[in-house]
Amino acid sequence: MDKTILVVEDQEDNRRILRDLLTSRGFTTIEVTDGLAGVESARINRPDLILMDIQLPGIDGYEATRRIKADAELAHIPIIAVTSYALSGDDNKAFSAGCDGYVAKPFSPRHLLAKIEQYLSPKTQEPGA
Ligand code: MN
Repeated sequence: MDKTILVVEDQEDNRRILRDLLTSRGFTTIEVTDGLAGVESARINRPDLILMDIQLPGIDGYEATRRIKADAELAHIPIIAVTSYALSGDDNKAFSAGCDGYVAKPFSPRHLLAKIEQYLSPKTQEPGA
């Protein structure tokens, strides 16, 4: 599968887990470690999907998501929030920031991959693309 996933995650351990999982499935990964770099990388690299940690240095994952979704050229990129908090209402905060999906840590690899496949499905492609 020739798809690029931008991973916005400040913890090296979590980045390694995601990198191993995604590359084993044939995805190309781009990794950045803070929210502003996530917004910038989305603009430069135009990934097919973004996995967005919420607790990040600088601007958090909610604010990074808002900035990406406010950019008409980037708004179509699916963003899945990956958060450490299983607090109730956290998923609603992610959705109201513009996230398309939500996964709580610790996530099951199978569940996360299923979510990714769901948002990379052909219906999101433009005709003739
Ligand atoms: Mn974090």
